[in-house]
Amino acid sequence: MMKNIQVRPRKGRRPFSYTDKPSPRCRRVVLSDRAYLSVLAEVLSWGSQETGGILFGQVRRGTWYVVEASDPGYPGKTVHTPCYHEMDPEYYNHLYPVLSRLYRHDLFVLGFWHRHPGSLDKFSGVDDRSNAVFARDIGPGCVSILVNMDPTERLTCYFLDRQDGLYHKTPVEIGDSAFAGTTFLALNTPADLHRKQPQLQQELRQFNRGEIKNGQVFAGSPVAAPCAGERDGQDGGAAPLAGKAVAPRA
Ligand SMILES: [Zn+2]
Repeated sequence: MMKNIQVRPRKGRRPFSYTDKPSPRCRRVVLSDRAYLSVLAEVLSWGSQETGGILFGQVRRGTWYVVEASDPGYPGKTVHTPCYHEMDPEYYNHLYPVLSRLYRHDLFVLGFWHRHPGSLDKFSGVDDRSNAVFARDIGPGCVSILVNMDPTERLTCYFLDRQDGLYHKTPVEIGDSAFAGTTFLALNTPADLHRKQPQLQQELRQFNRGEIKNGQVFAGSPVAAPCAGERDGQDGGAAPLAGKAVAPRA
């Protein structure tokens, strides 16, 4: 139904408007303890340099559950500056099935997170394009989380909704307790893995062919955007990927 709706940034002006009202398709976002710690550890590791990663999890009844949050990849294949960074698609394409196969329920790509300079908690033009690509490929939209250190960590969560083309500010809850009533954090048992062996082998074959999970693919290269010329406190952008992500059930 929403396949025909285009989320395409318009040239020459802010492509997406912001609203403080959460979307009915994403009323709240929940981060597991592990996902939150992954984000914080990565942010602290890079100091004032930007960094980021991919969000994996589940969607149910308007809540987007972030089970895992990745880092951006091997230093040297990623870019980190005070106002811009790039992730390594090969890295997180590999990491995706490796993380997903631990869980009883396969993980979906929900969006991405990245650090921002100063107190800037809105998106740059490059961010807009990255968000649009994620929203298109995920389906209903994408979760995009900004992390500021002003001076302690502060998370700002938006949901880019493809239906109305707005950035919806979305409440975030942190902690495994917010997963109560779900089995989204349940790990596979050894017996589960034996039963899923054909799936594991298929995913490995797909990865070796450049495909990920059920024929879905992460591909493409980051969009370059120079840091030079950006004013203090401005963000040059996060350029995580272009390509297709596995669609969550929303
Ligand atoms: Zn940014």
